[in-house]
Amino acid sequence: MAELKKLSEARDLTRIERIGAHSHIRGLGLDAALEARAVSEGMVGQCAARKAAGLILSLIKEGKIAGRAILLAGQPGTGKTAVAMGLAKSLGAETPFAAVSASEIFSLEMSKTEALTQAFRKAIGVRIKEEAEIIEGEVVEISIDRPAAGAGASAGQSSSKTGKLTLKTTDMETVYELGGKMIEALGREKVQSGDVISLDRASGKVTKLGRSITRSRDYDATGPSTKFVRCPEGELQKRKEVVHCVTLHEIDVINSRTQGFLALFTGDTGEIRSEVREQIDSKVSEWKEEGKAEIIPGVLFIDEVHMLDIECFSFLNRALENEMAPILVIATNRGITTIRGTNYRSPHGIPADFLDRLLIVTTQPYTEEEIGKIIEIRCEEEEVEMSKDAKLLLTKIGVETSLRYAIHLITSAALVSLKRKGKMVEMDDISRVYRLFLDVKRSTQYLMEYQNQYMFNEVPSVGEEVE
Ligand code: ATP
Repeated sequence: MAELKKLSEARDLTRIERIGAHSHIRGLGLDAALEARAVSEGMVGQCAARKAAGLILSLIKEGKIAGRAILLAGQPGTGKTAVAMGLAKSLGAETPFAAVSASEIFSLEMSKTEALTQAFRKAIGVRIKEEAEIIEGEVVEISIDRPAAGAGASAGQSSSKTGKLTLKTTDMETVYELGGKMIEALGREKVQSGDVISLDRASGKVTKLGRSITRSRDYDATGPSTKFVRCPEGELQKRKEVVHCVTLHEIDVINSRTQGFLALFTGDTGEIRSEVREQIDSKVSEWKEEGKAEIIPGVLFIDEVHMLDIECFSFLNRALENEMAPILVIATNRGITTIRGTNYRSPHGIPADFLDRLLIVTTQPYTEEEIGKIIEIRCEEEEVEMSKDAKLLLTKIGVETSLRYAIHLITSAALVSLKRKGKMVEMDDISRVYRLFLDVKRSTQYLMEYQNQYMFNEVPSVGEEVE
């Protein structure tokens, strides 16, 4: 438990945001009726996909679906990852979101199924409730058992006394066993019945907060005596709860003997033995039954899903049947292609039985206006001042080449402008970086022209796939 506490505190500290490809995305940008606003929370256009993601979000929040899978399919750069990130941002801090690229599954350090299991368990949250040490309440009764007379030299010393303290919180009366230290503290504070106190159960520290005015005999109607606080029964503090949110994977790592708490930060967790996982699963379900823990299925996002092979898909099929399974969101930009590990072709390179499980959401290419708006948002995010003409030129470039290429030119154009000590990025800066860095179309053209001068200069014939 102590390690889990340390971990959830440390995680809060490490939530530092960097300017990444999707850092401008702050949510899905939907209104209360789940309709996508044209431009909101960093999101532009792609309204149907955002609305679909919003529906999924509300189902997750209501806890209605578990073990479902959603496929985001669309051409490169149409915002599939952006929509997944928007979904992640809207989930709230307690719902875990784990993102992997399918190629990460094929690591040398662990088997494919282990890597997938870890990814799944990173997306399953456990909300652990602990009772706080400090309780506030009204003293109903204090009874102290004094040792019998003549019971040795220690007789009469407070340390040898025991007793009971009945404390009333909002909805219950609780009896605490008293020991020496607590009795001393009660005596020092001169606590009597009718007093409102706070009690630290761990240290035995007692603090007198005032008197309850709900008992008429204690009520001093004559004046503003500072000794009396307004503390009617209904306002007395309930037992406070402290909540830690961790993922199943984090509990696995902490309990894996060869690893330890720090492995979570280095990512060097290695394979985790199945016995460890079984023990953890039974412990967590025990906590669940005792009302100490709650399972929160989160979201697992697998990008470039066509990179998974047939074995991985069969693992996913089975893993989704588990009652704790998270929502699986997968994305691909492939059309009909070979299923990795087989000679069969299938839509998106996904086997038919797995495809059948999926809710499919498609993303559409952007209009010129939408590209312009995304470029504007990225300029703000990267704190780049750009003239109107330069933005228009960059938008045109985005339409002709790709949105991603245009976004990449923002930073480099800003550097060029800085170098010439310009106040803002101008059209010339954009033209300069456009000439310096080739987009895919020009790069391919160049390769076609000069292919004879390259090594292994085979260009696939039409219809052949580039892997
Ligand atoms: P690929 O198939 O190549 O993985 P993708 O569909 O996942 O591409 P993204 O990576 O999401 O595309 O988009 C490319 C860039 O454009 C990212 O920086 C992304 O944040 C931004 N972007 C895409 N769509 C939107 C949008 N609707 N609103 C704001 N930014 C967007």
